[in-house]
Amino acid sequence: MVNPATKLKTEEEFINEGHTPMMAQFMTIKQQYPDCLLFYRMGDFYEMFFDDAITASEILDITLTKRGKNKGEGIPMCGVPFHSYEPYLARLIKAGFKVAICDQIETPAQAKERGGYKALVKRDVIRVVTSGTLTEDSLLDAKSNNYLASLTFINGDYGLSWLELSTGEFIVQPVKEKNITTALERINPSEILIADIIIENKNLYEQFALVKDKITIQSASMFDSENAKKRLENIFTVGTLDAFGEFSKAEIAAAGALIDYVKRTQKGKIPYLSPPKQLSIGSVMEIDAATSRSLELTKNQNGERKGTLLSTIDCTITGAGARLLCARMSAPLCEINEITKRHDEVEIFANNSLLRNDIREILKEIPDMERAIGRISVERSSPRDLTMIRQALIKAQELINIFEQYDKKLETIAKYKENLSFSPSLTSYMEKLENALIDEPPALARDGNFIKNGYSEKLDRLRSLKSESRQHMANLQAKYIKMTGIDNLKISHNNVLGYFIDVPAKKASSLMVNKGQEQPKNNPFIHRQSLANNVRFTTVELSELERDLSSSNEKSIAIELEFFTQLNNEAINLAKEICFIANIIARIDVSTALANLAVDMNYIRPKIDESLSFNIEEGRHPVVEQSLKKDGNAFVPNDCDLSPSNRLWLLTGPNMAGKSTFLRQNALIAILAQMGSFVPAKSAHIGVIDRLFSRVGASDDLAKGRSTFMVEMVETATILNLSTDRSLVILDEIGRGTATYDGLSIAWACVEHLHEISKCRSLFATHYHELTNLQSELKSLSCHSMQVKEWKGDVIFMHSVAKGTANKSYGIHVAKLAGLPKTVIKRAEQVLNLLNKGNQENSLTKLANDLPLFSSAQTQENQEEAEIIKLINEINPDELSPKEALDKIYEIKQRVKQQ
Ligand code: ATP
Repeated sequence: MVNPATKLKTEEEFINEGHTPMMAQFMTIKQQYPDCLLFYRMGDFYEMFFDDAITASEILDITLTKRGKNKGEGIPMCGVPFHSYEPYLARLIKAGFKVAICDQIETPAQAKERGGYKALVKRDVIRVVTSGTLTEDSLLDAKSNNYLASLTFINGDYGLSWLELSTGEFIVQPVKEKNITTALERINPSEILIADIIIENKNLYEQFALVKDKITIQSASMFDSENAKKRLENIFTVGTLDAFGEFSKAEIAAAGALIDYVKRTQKGKIPYLSPPKQLSIGSVMEIDAATSRSLELTKNQNGERKGTLLSTIDCTITGAGARLLCARMSAPLCEINEITKRHDEVEIFANNSLLRNDIREILKEIPDMERAIGRISVERSSPRDLTMIRQALIKAQELINIFEQYDKKLETIAKYKENLSFSPSLTSYMEKLENALIDEPPALARDGNFIKNGYSEKLDRLRSLKSESRQHMANLQAKYIKMTGIDNLKISHNNVLGYFIDVPAKKASSLMVNKGQEQPKNNPFIHRQSLANNVRFTTVELSELERDLSSSNEKSIAIELEFFTQLNNEAINLAKEICFIANIIARIDVSTALANLAVDMNYIRPKIDESLSFNIEEGRHPVVEQSLKKDGNAFVPNDCDLSPSNRLWLLTGPNMAGKSTFLRQNALIAILAQMGSFVPAKSAHIGVIDRLFSRVGASDDLAKGRSTFMVEMVETATILNLSTDRSLVILDEIGRGTATYDGLSIAWACVEHLHEISKCRSLFATHYHELTNLQSELKSLSCHSMQVKEWKGDVIFMHSVAKGTANKSYGIHVAKLAGLPKTVIKRAEQVLNLLNKGNQENSLTKLANDLPLFSSAQTQENQEEAEIIKLINEINPDELSPKEALDKIYEIKQRVKQQ
């Protein structure tokens, strides 16, 4: 959308430049939306022109044609059908475009009346569709939130705000500069409004590298805090915002910019928004982008839901429940009271399977009421949105009835019941919806037929008139058949002629009246059209009947639309209560889903308090456990106690022994506990964690020009700089991406920093066994290792963690399992032997000088193989006695073994 200060050309100026009136109208509108593709309504199509057409035709894979001329060149054009434009729109939005939808805002008749025969129908943009302002179910993922966020700063304070247009959720948060990226990663908005002054600040803009594609730059004037305050006060009809909390100017500016943007994209229609909820600094566990990626919380490494913590624990039934669960996982809480409340709710349902199952049965039939009310409030609704609200309200009543039957003394149940209770106006609205709407209404209101018979006398009258007219039509047909003796005379209808009398051409001559001749009294048939096989007529009586029929149809649709508007308006008036109830239902869904998970997967209630404990007894990795379970394998549980006296665990152990799994499982248990879920463990006591850092596994960031080692160091720097004594830090193999001594020194210094400066609870996995020497110096460091057993030359991974240090890495064993060529494995074993014998430098130089050894080893092996094959070939089984045959088998086995 164009900056309001920009000077725009008038339609007349475009015409004076030689454009046709239609192109001038298009250009006048298009210049206001330079950053959007313009869908320009022409008849049954939305057309796109010039560069928009070239871009859209490529993305949508539709034909690019030409229309008229501009400066001697054909104008590129493509179009999508107006009746089914949504899938096309969805693809363009997904590809990162904004689309301005320009419709006819008057009928051709109105245009003619206004400006005569040649007047062009007025058009204007009725809505700008952007990724952050979607409301249609077909454009949204039912299980994900679709946030529009905005960020600004005033006098050094940063304000962040985000809202979900389709549900009305609206949140503000003050944010520190160093936490901006983390907060944006947590919210995961589809679109972010940022003031141009932030973009100009190169250092700050760097922070947005990961979300660059989502940014919509806005002029700084949109973030004026005074205007923003007025905008917010107006929309929430309050004299002051104090009632909602104490907001900084930056927070108000960010929230106000959102309202302004919504107003501009929705062309003045503001959907129902709940009053802004403030998230204070420190109220949620901060999880930075790298951590959330490495732990695969809501998205896996490929950006999908599969295999994530969310997909593993999501047993929700409704779309709103799934969205709430995802939001909770992205922002686990730090407030103990609220965490306890969530655990209480899960516990009630976990302990009461009958209640839980009854509720979950009802949840299966609850539609997405939140999103339906969102569409209604931006006047984009269908009669089906009203029936969705009706159904959800009926089911909410059923939930109340169920809660009635259970222990009324249980505080949680009583609270649910109270929160679900309807005001008298909502009760009467629900009854009205039940009385007014048919069970399965059509998707579009404009064709009518969604109001029940019996709801309105006037409508019933018109409808019976309509059906009577139909009867009249049948009677008329019978009358004309009798009158003419033509048995196959029919009264039919099409869009061009309306109703007509259809007669086979062979029999039509008796009904024809010669040109110029007056219509005979005994022949009412007036000729309309002759086709090859049929001739079509009308009569005065038929025309009158048609007029009655069409006027009763028009009138009844008008009445239905009036009811539709009334019912929508009532929903908007009740939006606050409807959204509140929708929210409670989502909360019930999440709590029962987590309870179900807890029962099915044997999760327990964690204890969360102000301490600095982190004591997990028999913890399990939720995702690995479930995938092992599918294959019939059991997960080996492990304890982890990072209490103050041994808050830093140094974990050594072979490759593939389960170090990363152990590290991750403890981070995931912390997230589950603080988001309000039960956890996979025998017991868990966690002192609230303010920030979680996890660096497990390495990847490079070629887009930012960073090598794998550079990424590792940048992420490690963030952890060391930002972790506090309340944080949980998970580090896996720091310093592996460089020379051995460099890496060891870096890892050494990091351990010391975590222990002495950050003082956080940490798990540090490493293959540098030398680090275990730090145990004598650092009193809160304790060494642990993954257990393995060697058996008959094989290594068995026990996957259990024990106190002490590992003496070997078994890397070569894992390489063998992975299928490295035997020659390479053998050579690696030789090198390792030499290294282990000490005097490393000389041995290595000798080994390097001795390079042919590798190829000769290979040749020797090939020779041995050839000899065994020769031996087998030389055997003539028919000539061998049983004893000789047995001896040969022993000989071959022996030689294969030696190889
Ligand atoms: P590397 O040092 O090579 O990265 P690692 O020690 O980090 O290896 P993991 O990746 O954690 O090892 O685990 C290897 C595999 O072992 C996992 O994919 C999982 O299937 C299995 N595993 C790990 N921990 C357990 C456990 N506690 N119980 C059962 N299986 C486990």
